[in-house]
Amino acid sequence: MQGMKHILCPTCTAVNRVDDARLAQAVCGKCAKPLAGAQVLHLDGPLLDALLAKDDLPLLVDFWAPWCGPCKMMAPAFEEAARRLAPGVRLGKVDTEANPALGARFGVQSIPTLVLFRNGVEVGRLSGARPAGDIVTWTLGALR
Ligand code: ZN
Repeated sequence: MQGMKHILCPTCTAVNRVDDARLAQAVCGKCAKPLAGAQVLHLDGPLLDALLAKDDLPLLVDFWAPWCGPCKMMAPAFEEAARRLAPGVRLGKVDTEANPALGARFGVQSIPTLVLFRNGVEVGRLSGARPAGDIVTWTLGALR
């Protein structure tokens, strides 16, 4: 995992080359926003596709919807998991009500469902609401 990574800026989608050791502090060369912050990203189709195609960080996506009670209950746990997994893993959310095509494309049958991607390929999937510790442990295990 050492060396240079291609990191897509989640703000402007410019691709930056960043040394692993500097990832936590790195900002985009184009827009100066953080490249791998601990905040959960709100993903629409174009941003999700860009991350899957051009970003070297693993990406954990929470497929959720505003009407889903367990999804809303899990939101603080997902945010905490994002803080604990940064900067080596990105966490993002797809609102399947606003983006129904994305839920269908990834075969999401129930929500919340967590899908973990590495190098643009799904490497793990977990359904149902989970506490932050479970999300972190499962993610690190799936990436091992
Ligand atoms: Zn940028």
